[in-house]
Amino acid sequence: MTTAVRLAAPLLAMLLLLSACDRPQPVYNSRFLTFGTLTDISIVGVTHERAMRAVETLEDDFAIMNKAWHAWAPGPLTRTNNLLAEGVRFAVPPSVLTLMKKAKQLARQSDNLFNPAVGRLIKLWGFQSDTLEDHRPPEKEAIEKLLAAHPTMDDITIDGIHAQCSNPAVQLDFGAIGKGYGIDLAIEHLKEMGIQNAIVNSGGDLRAIGSRGGHPWRIAIRSPSGSGTLGFLYVSGDESVFTSGNYERNYLWEGKLYHHIIDPRTGYPAEGTRSVTVIHDNATVADAAATALFVAGPKDWHRIARQMGIKYVLLIDTDNIVHMNPAMKKRVQLMDRNQPVEISAPLTDTVTADRP
Ligand code: ADP
Ligand code: MG
Repeated sequence: MTTAVRLAAPLLAMLLLLSACDRPQPVYNSRFLTFGTLTDISIVGVTHERAMRAVETLEDDFAIMNKAWHAWAPGPLTRTNNLLAEGVRFAVPPSVLTLMKKAKQLARQSDNLFNPAVGRLIKLWGFQSDTLEDHRPPEKEAIEKLLAAHPTMDDITIDGIHAQCSNPAVQLDFGAIGKGYGIDLAIEHLKEMGIQNAIVNSGGDLRAIGSRGGHPWRIAIRSPSGSGTLGFLYVSGDESVFTSGNYERNYLWEGKLYHHIIDPRTGYPAEGTRSVTVIHDNATVADAAATALFVAGPKDWHRIARQMGIKYVLLIDTDNIVHMNPAMKKRVQLMDRNQPVEISAPLTDTVTADRP
């Protein structure tokens, strides 16, 4: 039995959910700490014992993933980063290889607005740290020096299980994609264990499969202030909902807020966006896309979303205007009916659902 940090003992929430034969079905809820945030698991349609065992397995999975992709605690990713900086050809640890490949493709599709090769920049800003206290932002010269080296995923050549990097400034930081990939692996593992109705929710970023006793899962979209709810949407089948917001990790210096989503073009925290929510059928892509569209901002999100194959986007800009594509608008119920909203052109050419 796993005895790792468990903040709340598993609850058997006997919510009155109607099953196919109209019997109430229990929702098993459990919560643990991973990736520096709380992960909530909800499972429906199996016995309490099976759900409990599944959650224990996931807790172990997440502990391994957290260690493998940690950007600053010594482990497979820090070893990889050392070898990338040396420029030698090396066998990539298996736990890092797939994520490296996925990150390479998503970086290219996002025009490098999602750029996990800028680990040095993220460290310079002080975001590679277990504790985040208010501190002086980095000097302009130090940022410019890192920008001039122009690290991108294209500097890494992958050949089978080997990799080599041509730019010593490249350091991987999977902060914008690791949680998504972890949730994808967790959902795959749940399916292998015969669980077909579940939500894996890590700090508000989630993937949901199946349904809640025949009803869609109801998902709250967090308000960009970081507390409260902007609106709701329903998911069923298999979908991921991911949000990137400037409220997640930030600090104040001389009255100005510095947040953790860095624009790789300027080297500074991205401007113009408060938060972005995307829905996609895969959590890895949803995670990288939410970050990329945050950086792209209110003027460029549409183009990048199309390039990344994203069909549902909600972006709140720093003037508090909600930007959505027509298909997203159809799915979201905003709490404030007077909320200023701007509906974009459709994101897809063929799907009629994305028409105004
Ligand atoms: P959250 O972790 O709040 O869900 P994100 O998915 O947007 O938010 O991830 C932000 C993290 O990703 C940062 O803490 C940092 O580690 C990393 N990061 C910041 N800017 C970028 C970027 N432009 N591209 C890739 N990774 C980034
Ligand atoms: Mg992300």
